[in-house]
Amino acid sequence: MDEPVYSIFDIKRYSINDGPGIRITFFFKGCPLSCVWCHNPEGMSRKQTRMYTVSKCIMCGACVQVCPAKALGFGRVHGAAGGGIQWDPDLCTMCGKCAEACPTRAVEMASKPYTPKEIYAEIQKEKPFFEASGGGVTFSGGEPLYQGEKILQLLDYIGSAAVRDGFTLHRTLDTTLYAPAGLVREAVPRCELFMVDIKHMDSRMHRHWCGVPNEPILDNLRMIASMGAEYIVRIPYIIGVNAAPANIASTGRYLSSLKHMPMYVELLPYHDIGKSKHSRMGTVYNPESEHMSSPSTADMEEAAEILKKYGVPSRF
Ligand code: SF4
Ligand code: SF4
Repeated sequence: MDEPVYSIFDIKRYSINDGPGIRITFFFKGCPLSCVWCHNPEGMSRKQTRMYTVSKCIMCGACVQVCPAKALGFGRVHGAAGGGIQWDPDLCTMCGKCAEACPTRAVEMASKPYTPKEIYAEIQKEKPFFEASGGGVTFSGGEPLYQGEKILQLLDYIGSAAVRDGFTLHRTLDTTLYAPAGLVREAVPRCELFMVDIKHMDSRMHRHWCGVPNEPILDNLRMIASMGAEYIVRIPYIIGVNAAPANIASTGRYLSSLKHMPMYVELLPYHDIGKSKHSRMGTVYNPESEHMSSPSTADMEEAAEILKKYGVPSRF
């Protein structure tokens, strides 16, 4: 059988926000959701993504010369005063030759393939930090469960490899839980912590903002809680999307109905950091110009108070 290959668009070391201790976080390409505010839009598609930073481009033309699909040419580029390299996504085959030829890394391909062995080799380098801090590895994305059975194989592989090397690896899944129930059930004994996003309690609004309904997410969260999994809930807290007190109260009510509570709820204030990535990808952030804005500290405190009424601990 062929060795599985994982498409990874970023590896973050020394991470302190993706679970306990100091962690290494792998970002898997592909997500079934399409949240309007997504911070990592290059992780949405399973396919390769080309990114072009016009401010790094010296207009040397190397990319234009090597492109076998004739997808590149000199021209005007949105946001660039002095022109740039125009790209035709319909002609591009994502071969990556332009990124190889670019002397300034103005062009980069978002993801690289990794085998389980290569992923474990990266994890192993961080072992001293895990031992000193109680950290471990976090699989994020995109959506790690979008890898299907392959993510279970990988969790098994890295867990067994660590045991062979004389340590216990703390494994966290940073997930939307928008995945088949059977897959989520199988993931529970294979990781020590879930970090689960709840974006909206109203399924119609969830579909509007994220492209999919929320029932599978809420059902899966109920299931992992009933199985005794440790979990943290994260709410991207956005004025104009989900910050209404009624929605936060509904979240608190739902969480208090689960077999056991999350360790805590983390309220993450809105930032438009996905904007510059969209521009590098040649796509548009928030194409419908929907109103989204950052909450004030008072807004966050109000949300925390509402959750507290339902016995749900929170932080921001
Ligand atoms: S990825 Fe390949 S086809 Fe696409 S623009 Fe670059 S060189 Fe051309
Ligand atoms: S190879 Fe790089 S620096 Fe040269 S024109 Fe293309 S994008 Fe710009």
